[in-house]
Amino acid sequence: MIGNFKRFDMSKKPTSQRRFLTPITWAISFPSKWRHRSKIEKHGLEGIKPPYLLLCNHNCFLDFKIMTAAIFPRRANYVVAIDGFIKREWLLRNAGGIGVRKFTNAAQLVRNMVYAKNKGNIIVLYPEARYSLCGAQAVLPDSIGKFVRLLDIPVVMLLMHGHHITAPFWGTKARKLQSLRAEMKLLLTQEQTQQLTPAEINEKVRASFVYDDFAWQKANNLHVNSRDRAEGLHKVLYQCPHCRTEYKMESAKHELFCTSCGKRWEMTTLGELRAEGGETEFSHIPDWYEWERENVRAEVERGEYSFFAKAHVDSLPNARGFIDLGEAELTHNMEGFTLRGKLGGEAYEKRWKPRELYSCHIEYNYLKKHGDCIDLNTITDTLYIYPEGEGISVTKIALATEELYKNATAEREAAKSN
Ligand SMILES: [Zn+2]
Repeated sequence: MIGNFKRFDMSKKPTSQRRFLTPITWAISFPSKWRHRSKIEKHGLEGIKPPYLLLCNHNCFLDFKIMTAAIFPRRANYVVAIDGFIKREWLLRNAGGIGVRKFTNAAQLVRNMVYAKNKGNIIVLYPEARYSLCGAQAVLPDSIGKFVRLLDIPVVMLLMHGHHITAPFWGTKARKLQSLRAEMKLLLTQEQTQQLTPAEINEKVRASFVYDDFAWQKANNLHVNSRDRAEGLHKVLYQCPHCRTEYKMESAKHELFCTSCGKRWEMTTLGELRAEGGETEFSHIPDWYEWERENVRAEVERGEYSFFAKAHVDSLPNARGFIDLGEAELTHNMEGFTLRGKLGGEAYEKRWKPRELYSCHIEYNYLKKHGDCIDLNTITDTLYIYPEGEGISVTKIALATEELYKNATAEREAAKSN
């Protein structure tokens, strides 16, 4: 625990959403649904009544509104990160929120979900635990299978399409895209949650949790005519596929370019990339991102991945607001993350080993004023770490976190079978 601050009380039981707040959530949600001419298609949900677990994909704030419309006129308990409710703990609690810290394995969360189930409520979970970086599914935790079995209620899935296109995580402006779609379907009956093993449940969830918003946009011929449609894309596509230089990508208006070799790509209104001269290495944005991942994976496999920077740290011990922890040093290498700093004259050190984090949450230009950051959590601390200096990509750090986890897991499996 860093510092002697009051902590968010994770053990407090979730409340059912207060009745007077429910119409307010509708008043916030439905106008957005109409504006985006969003349609929700439901399959196989006849006879499915709460309590059930609703798994949703996660791209932007609109997800909450479409989810609210999808379960109308019911209300739910929502698993939410306390970061989303700074200075609004009252709202988090009374709107039916179950507060968590991202990517921590809190036993308390499971207890609170069981409590919500016993109240007969829908439990809403965004298992990706962060917004998708480029409109395709993010890694899902292995813990899903276990708590699905434990909850012993049907599992329903809400897969929303086009939300990344209308408000990309890396983008600087929303696009007001219309004709959005969502599919809501039964994934597992209550009986199936008991017949299948946790590993089989994970398989099933992963197999259905597949989406690709850029492919969907193209298939549906939905044009984004915004003149600034590529602005911010270099945050995700930080490595040039032409000269392979990292951290020298930039974007402006409808273009992406490398300031090292000068190559430029146009982003079409259908979300594809086209080189403005020479070969188009990747026309599909998620392919470029996966190519970056392969390069990071190769560094990890060679045992050479390493990152170090001075960083500014803010902490969120409770939902009341960030506390400035000052300067620190962040190392990320084959041993995982190490954060070393000083608070009130006393040195602290926090470590996250590769096996402790299967992924991590990052932000681009957080709250539009603080710059890019990595969010690392313990059960008691939510730390927003802002690395300082040139040649840094929080996207690469997030990819490395995932590849280090896979690598450490494979090594552990290999050691077991020997
Ligand atoms: Zn280049």
